[in-house]
Amino acid sequence: MSIQTTNPATNKVIKSFDEMTDKQLDQAVSKAETAFQLWKKTTYPERTAVLNKVASLMREKKTALATLITLEMGKIFSQAEGEIELSANILEYYAKNGETFLADKKLEPELGEAIIRSSPIGVLLGVQPWNFPFYQVARFIAPNMMVGNTILLKHASMVPQCAIAIEDLFKEAQAPVGLYTNLLLSGKRASMLISDKRIKGASLTGSEAAGASLASEAGKNLKKSVLELGGNDAFIVLEDADIDKTVEWAVIGRMNNNGQSCIASKRIIAVEAIADEFIEKYTAKLAKLKVGDPMDQNTELGPLSSEEALIHLLDQVDRSIAAGATVLLGGKRVDGPGAFMEPTILTDLNPKIPAYYEELFGPVSSFYRVKDEEAAIILANDSDFGLGGSIFTKDIERGKRIADQIDSGMVFINHPTWTQTDLPFGGTKGSGYGRELSEIGIHEFVNKKLIRVS
Ligand code: NDP
Repeated sequence: MSIQTTNPATNKVIKSFDEMTDKQLDQAVSKAETAFQLWKKTTYPERTAVLNKVASLMREKKTALATLITLEMGKIFSQAEGEIELSANILEYYAKNGETFLADKKLEPELGEAIIRSSPIGVLLGVQPWNFPFYQVARFIAPNMMVGNTILLKHASMVPQCAIAIEDLFKEAQAPVGLYTNLLLSGKRASMLISDKRIKGASLTGSEAAGASLASEAGKNLKKSVLELGGNDAFIVLEDADIDKTVEWAVIGRMNNNGQSCIASKRIIAVEAIADEFIEKYTAKLAKLKVGDPMDQNTELGPLSSEEALIHLLDQVDRSIAAGATVLLGGKRVDGPGAFMEPTILTDLNPKIPAYYEELFGPVSSFYRVKDEEAAIILANDSDFGLGGSIFTKDIERGKRIADQIDSGMVFINHPTWTQTDLPFGGTKGSGYGRELSEIGIHEFVNKKLIRVS
């Protein structure tokens, strides 16, 4: 059975689930469409009340929900608790600000009077990944529910209990039936669902392959899509950076979520003047990380999300070594049960080596040494991805000038790329299109209706 909970810290299967039948799926879509006809007529305060109730239930059940995250995908428990808090914050943020963001905009036409009204478009399909099982869902559903859209959610097959727990929160909050429906379903069937006339748009976070599949179905059916795909973010360290602080940020930027984040600091690019000092200190810190049980509060690096993910990552590392990469640290799985990978640093990379151009989803850093700022920018942009990026320098104006030249959706100065409730999130190039979060994110699945008065 493909939909199942397997604890990646032990590789033991805990629970399996049946996929929905075609009939159940059809009923779920109908329910969401019926709910839309009612939900679109609700007031903003009514929508706000539902989101706030779900947020408060999330906080109440934080320990249980965080435990499920750790059980199903191996996130360190304290980080799982942080994810639940962040998700509740997102729900509350849109509950509070949604009405303002969606208010009528008055235009100043040469003739007559006109406004733009933000109207809902209907049932949306969200396809979400396992790496942040609550946060990814929260940032898709909260803005769209405030808009007046209803949600069908196809979650990753490896986090079915998280997926069901989210739906249960809506039931317990006594949200209208059909406002939020969990679909226990394979990825392929999710893409095909887009041709259903009752579904008006879709958003996917995940791999480029899944994104391309969903976007092509959406395109064929003339439906809007938003894609948040992989990344290979540059982490640029300049000669005037505070090296000790920057090393600390590099560890957090690369190792957060056991290295499985789209915005992880995957490519560290250090200018020659400080490269030796940086890599010596960075290697020493990674070598000391405590790898182990993600439920243990002393653990600093947990397992990958699954044995398959580990096998894939080891294959990428092995192919990179075979093609000429040098291993500065780690490079192997950790002996014993569970999908654990050693903290790893690869260097001597060039465009023919897989680690140069593929996304490595785990605790593997790629380290590059470059002559100067200009070379750092060229290398940072030599990627098919364009999600985030970060620059470390004491000269903020210099940082901003370099940020202008980085071809990505987000650039952070003196901080790894991160997410924040009130800041937009999304990328360019192979990292997808559209934005989530902030005032920008709420306008993706909205009919910007012109109302003109003579
Ligand atoms: P996938 O892209 O396969 O999974 C993400 C979501 O997409 C899941 O819900 C999955 O469902 C679904 N899906 C898979 N195939 C299709 C399809 N053809 N049409 C519609 N939906 C689909 O990611 P993986 O878990 O396989 O991870 C592979 C790689 O993707 C990672 O190593 C990483 O590089 C990248 N990734 C990036 C993420 C990010 O945050 N940007 C998150 C996750 C992965 P199901 O689980 O049922 O297959």
